[in-house]
Amino acid sequence: MIGIGIDIGGTFVKLFVLNEKGDILHNHKIETHYAKGAAGFIDELAGFINRFKTEYAGQTLAVAVGAPGDVDNKNGVLRYNPNLKFSDVSTWPIAQQLYEKTGILPRVANDATLAAWGVYETDLRRQGTNVLVITLGTGVGGGLILNKELYQGSNGTAGEIGHAKISFSAKAPLCGCGMRGCLESFVGTIGLKRRALAAARLHPQSELARQISHEKDFKIEAIFRAAEKGCSVALKFWEDTGRYLGIGIANFVLTLDVDTVVLTGGVSGAAPYFMPALKQVLDSQSFKTPFKELKLLVSQNPNVGGIGAALYAIHHAQKAR
Ligand SMILES: [Zn+2]
Repeated sequence: MIGIGIDIGGTFVKLFVLNEKGDILHNHKIETHYAKGAAGFIDELAGFINRFKTEYAGQTLAVAVGAPGDVDNKNGVLRYNPNLKFSDVSTWPIAQQLYEKTGILPRVANDATLAAWGVYETDLRRQGTNVLVITLGTGVGGGLILNKELYQGSNGTAGEIGHAKISFSAKAPLCGCGMRGCLESFVGTIGLKRRALAAARLHPQSELARQISHEKDFKIEAIFRAAEKGCSVALKFWEDTGRYLGIGIANFVLTLDVDTVVLTGGVSGAAPYFMPALKQVLDSQSFKTPFKELKLLVSQNPNVGGIGAALYAIHHAQKAR
């Protein structure tokens, strides 16, 4: 069996083709083309699938698509997404449209959910029974493996840790979703930048302020670099970040009693700076049992979304046999 995984992002789409053993046979990264609308974009994806259909003629092909936002995983419909800029669709029946053009009905799920499966199969090699995977990037996504199977919830939206509230202050930052106090508004890249700018304004002589002023639209790496140079303002910044993450994670661990939490996505590269404060929040919980044996890991594979989609396509098809 051949698995095709398609990870749709706001800027790029990653496509992975894997066999049952997990070997990567092909991988492509293309821009998310908006010019021809959603219909043109579907044609492009269908073109890839049909190409592999010809290449692997005689073998069973299974396809899964990860999409950012609110996904109806049962019907393969993207219900809502603020980051994809297709003006010609509101709710988008991705599965049906790809089926019409390829003859293969794909699974469609939230991108962080499929990334969680990717981490579970590759980094963890299916060790662990209940796992929470948090993707730290522009958005803060979550995916859950419960009882060794992907758990998507009643509506396909399980694990939306980014929009769990960690502050109820009227001054809490505004999230991209329109609410205040979401974890993402503190530790998503937009929130990180906003917080870093505020810290730099308060401490204009700091290394953090210097690193940020180097670049007009600075990258998160500038905040890493300041911490690397021992800047106390940057170190405090990452310590606060660890505390925010710790509060969000503690709430999920108390709810689900998972055995493993894995952080992935670009921002997880700053783990050496935020991890001590994060662990401190977990260690300071009064209800100790779920935290005692908890494994807290970092996955640095930037392709877990696409790989996870391909592996999940295979896993799902094998279960259905
Ligand atoms: Zn939110």
